[in-house]
Amino acid sequence: MVNEERIRQTFEELVRMYAPSKGERAVCDYLKKRMRALGADEIIEDNGGSINGGNSGNLIAKFAANAENLPSIALTGHMDCVECCEHIEPVRRDGVYYSNGNTVLGSDDKSGVAAILEGLELIKEKNIPHGKITVIFTVQEESGLGGSKNIGTKYIEGIDFGYTLDGDGHAGNVYIEGPAQYTLTFTLHGKASHAGMAPEKGINAISMAASGIAQCPTGRIDEETTCNIGVIEGGIATNIVPETCVVHVEARSRNDEKLEQIVKEIIHAFENGIKSFDGGTMDVVKTKEYEAFRVKENAPMMTLFRKACDNAGFEMKTAVSGGGSDANWFGAKGFPSVLVGVGMADFHTNRENLAEKDLYEAGELVYRLIEAETK
Ligand SMILES: [Zn+2]
Repeated sequence: MVNEERIRQTFEELVRMYAPSKGERAVCDYLKKRMRALGADEIIEDNGGSINGGNSGNLIAKFAANAENLPSIALTGHMDCVECCEHIEPVRRDGVYYSNGNTVLGSDDKSGVAAILEGLELIKEKNIPHGKITVIFTVQEESGLGGSKNIGTKYIEGIDFGYTLDGDGHAGNVYIEGPAQYTLTFTLHGKASHAGMAPEKGINAISMAASGIAQCPTGRIDEETTCNIGVIEGGIATNIVPETCVVHVEARSRNDEKLEQIVKEIIHAFENGIKSFDGGTMDVVKTKEYEAFRVKENAPMMTLFRKACDNAGFEMKTAVSGGGSDANWFGAKGFPSVLVGVGMADFHTNRENLAEKDLYEAGELVYRLIEAETK
């Protein structure tokens, strides 16, 4: 079914292009050409990337419906890669793609991008009737979902639902829930003083942070809630009582109330922790990184997904995700989307790998999703 040579070539071309977050230009230009060749009716590059200083916007390509009364669906993937992703050299060994060991492989998310392209090639070749299809290739997914967060909502109006091809596991793996996330940045303000001559004149900001951290929840709170004290920065030298210390904390939950509650507890822990430091103060910056997403197992998009898997002979497996993806922002901004497996394994490391079979099946799944609208 899938043209294996064509999808492999697409995948290899894509990963060889250097595309860190905010540097997706080459991939965006390549995808514009491919969208044009596929006959997209509208190709838009928005300014969602320039907001954070990137050199490319999100790419949105629309294919008009060629049959009536079919859903308007979105297929999405991201163009950027985590570092190190320059000079990626894909190596095939025993049916599995690896990098040469010096970089990541880039299957996150070029496997998803290649699958979308291959699915569309098949639909065009076979002249499959379909509803409106909106293809969205985002920027800056890896640097905090910046592309989907800032996508122009006028470009995604009227989409019934979407599939975000950016999950691990084989095609048929589908994440139907993901958490919302807050990050909290605490800046503890103490007072500098000479550590040997006049320590009593100082207020130790690192000790203040330690006292807050000691009372702060961390790790897994319950099945759907987690938090983590991730970064601490402070101090200049051992002979100076540190004036400032900064602590970065995150919290996630698939349950909005629990998330608000845990954030309150974290802030309270630091407020309590610094009470005994007379003259010490604290600032906290609280940022909602993204909203949770949640799709019901019996939603129309899941019925279509199940049909596509059945037709392709893939085992379907639903799961909940502990991470954030573009699906979170699409859900909050206009249309529900689920996160679909495209086979990437050990991603974000130089051991990243992708089974060829998983790549082919991801391409096949995209085709089957469209085909299942009528079949
Ligand atoms: Zn990804």
